[in-house]
Amino acid sequence: MSKEISRREFVKGLAVSAAGVTAIGLFGGCGNGAPTTAATPTAAAGLYTPGTYTATAKGMESDITVTMTFDASSITDITLDVSGETESIGAAAGDTLKKQLLAAQSSQIDGVSGASVTSAAVKQAAADCISQASGGKIVQNMATTPAPIAPEAAGNDWLGTAPEIAESDIKDTLETEVLIVGASNGGLAAGARAAQCGAAVLVIEKAISSMNEREALGAIGTRAAKAAGIETDKNLVVAELCRYASHRCNEKLIRLWADRSGEMLDWLEEIVTSRNDGVSLHIETDIGKGGHDNYYIPVTWHNFQDSDPSHDYTPATGAYSLRSLSAVISENGGEIRYSTPMVKLERETGGRVTGVIAKNENGEYIRINASKGVILCTGGYAGNQAMLKALNPVAYNCTVQTDSTPNCFGDGIKAGMWVGADKDPDATVMLFDRGTIQPDRLVDGDWKNSGYFHLGSQPWLKVNLNGERFCNESVPYDFILHAAYMEPHHLYNTVYDSNWVDQVKQFKQFACARIEPSPDGGKWILFNWDAEKGLLATLQQAGFIQQADTLEELAEKLNMPADTFVETVKRYNALCDKGVDEDFGKEAYRLLPLNTPPYFGCRQGANLLTTLDGLRINTNMQVLDTEGKVIDGLYAAGDCSGGFFAHNYPEYIAGVAVGRTLTEGYLAGEYVAKL
Ligand SMILES: Cc1cc2nc3c(=O)[nH]c(=O)nc-3n(C[C@H](O)[C@H](O)[C@H](O)COP(=O)(O)OP(=O)(O)OC[C@H]3O[C@@H](n4cnc5c(N)ncnc54)[C@H](O)[C@@H]3O)c2cc1C
Repeated sequence: MSKEISRREFVKGLAVSAAGVTAIGLFGGCGNGAPTTAATPTAAAGLYTPGTYTATAKGMESDITVTMTFDASSITDITLDVSGETESIGAAAGDTLKKQLLAAQSSQIDGVSGASVTSAAVKQAAADCISQASGGKIVQNMATTPAPIAPEAAGNDWLGTAPEIAESDIKDTLETEVLIVGASNGGLAAGARAAQCGAAVLVIEKAISSMNEREALGAIGTRAAKAAGIETDKNLVVAELCRYASHRCNEKLIRLWADRSGEMLDWLEEIVTSRNDGVSLHIETDIGKGGHDNYYIPVTWHNFQDSDPSHDYTPATGAYSLRSLSAVISENGGEIRYSTPMVKLERETGGRVTGVIAKNENGEYIRINASKGVILCTGGYAGNQAMLKALNPVAYNCTVQTDSTPNCFGDGIKAGMWVGADKDPDATVMLFDRGTIQPDRLVDGDWKNSGYFHLGSQPWLKVNLNGERFCNESVPYDFILHAAYMEPHHLYNTVYDSNWVDQVKQFKQFACARIEPSPDGGKWILFNWDAEKGLLATLQQAGFIQQADTLEELAEKLNMPADTFVETVKRYNALCDKGVDEDFGKEAYRLLPLNTPPYFGCRQGANLLTTLDGLRINTNMQVLDTEGKVIDGLYAAGDCSGGFFAHNYPEYIAGVAVGRTLTEGYLAGEYVAKL
């Protein structure tokens, strides 16, 4: 049975499929996103509306109640009523679950093994509280957070072969013009633009909601930048990105981002600000002035901020962009179907890609035919340990923790390759210096039982596991991880003392490493001081951060030779006194001594965010085969596409990852819709 999805059905479907998105007026054409009917304003506030929220979910033996208290940016207290659960199992897990929720500041916690039903209910109720407190801005559900695919599961055969699916197993067939796979940054930008341009659009997403809101949006030549008198030298930025990739990239794609990202962000700005009262696009221009002085690249990054006067800083507000893009899709008759994973692409032998086989929310196979094309926006493969280990053993062997998008298992890359697409030659990864494990552990592939140490990006003294300094600590996030890879076991310790607050202020770190807003009038930070202190307390309690009154005791707790470590600190402090780093050349204002007990330290490895190597595409985002020829009907954008980065992510060019994803998605949507 073949089913044409009419525009009316698209709109109807949205009520159930685009949870949390306010359906607002229709606007048509391939315009700039301005609504033709009045938008329903969405209240703008902080991340949370402070207060106490309660939710209930069914446990093993009883209804479990979770009560959470929030301030504007964090969960401050939790009460769990698990008293009706089996005493020795579910009820006993209560304390642990509470600690996990507070530590994670999220419902996405491990839970307690042996009490899985109780854990699932607690997570569900916690997600409900978070959703209430955030006014629906944060939608979390553990059902969407599968465990990483462990290396043992697949050995080295990360690619495998396309599954064979019998015709008799295909229960339904849908017809659309533009099919987009993945409802995140790339997919929703592509969907919104294609729908605006008049195409019938269907977006399918594996998870039950869209959830990868991003904060730092990198673009050049935006209206906001022009208004602020900022002119960016495109040639310089393009050359720097190519240099960083050792030119193992497609310069034309980078140039495309440099030329068109301003237009894309102006479009997004109108879409977001017209639908969210009090929200505006803000630019951050301080990069290089306060941090990483040796790596200054003047790209302006942007984010959406609200105007709540109670904020002396702006908490995370990236949710606005995905919600608003989803609204544009629905307003223009498109549909987003969640819980609908693509299984494989369908391609006529040697010819066109005609659509996909996916699974519907009941787990049945369905065929979706796309007359204009399929745009893959399935992200990278950071959740697929087998694929990471096979393609990038260096990254795998220094990663201790992940922040990556659940469900990003490389599905789009594999599906593309199964139908003949070419892939980047180099594995490329986004690693941050924020993973921590207990000091008696080495890299072991257990990404769940590890900590997120946000202060890891501060340029304090860092020593290898033998207690020796090994690098200028004042470098972009991942450089310290690369330097540490050359040291025993690929790990290192970050150490600091009781002056840490003053020192962090003095370091003036940049982008998402900031705790204080930038000195140049920037307003955005990832954590405020209270949130940071809460995070540290939790990490200490869980045995990640060690505290000691003497350097010798700290060395012992961190499993390092005390005599070497003490010598290292003496030398470091002497350089700090001199104000000249004769050993590694760190800037004088970042040479701050370790001399005020108690001392602190933790063992660090990489925090894996995403991967950035993918299917080869041209500047229409058409996927290419191994001969460099276009595969008709197939497109890719964002992290599942390639040609933009190679080896590592240049995080000192803040926001360029999602900036290129949104730009590629926007342009792909427009190109395919206009065919
Ligand atoms: C914690 C974190 C913070 C970040 N912050 C920034 C930032 O501030 N600035 C910046 O520039 N970059 C940032 N990045 C990187 C940035 O998010 C990515 O480079 C970019 O967003 C990728 O977008 P995408 O749409 O390609 O993929 P993703 O956002 O990863 O989305 C892919 C989507 O595809 C879905 N999917 C996967 N497989 C299937 C399937 N088989 N069928 C259907 N759907 C599927 C997934 O569920 C997911 O929703 C951050 C990354 C992380 C992890």
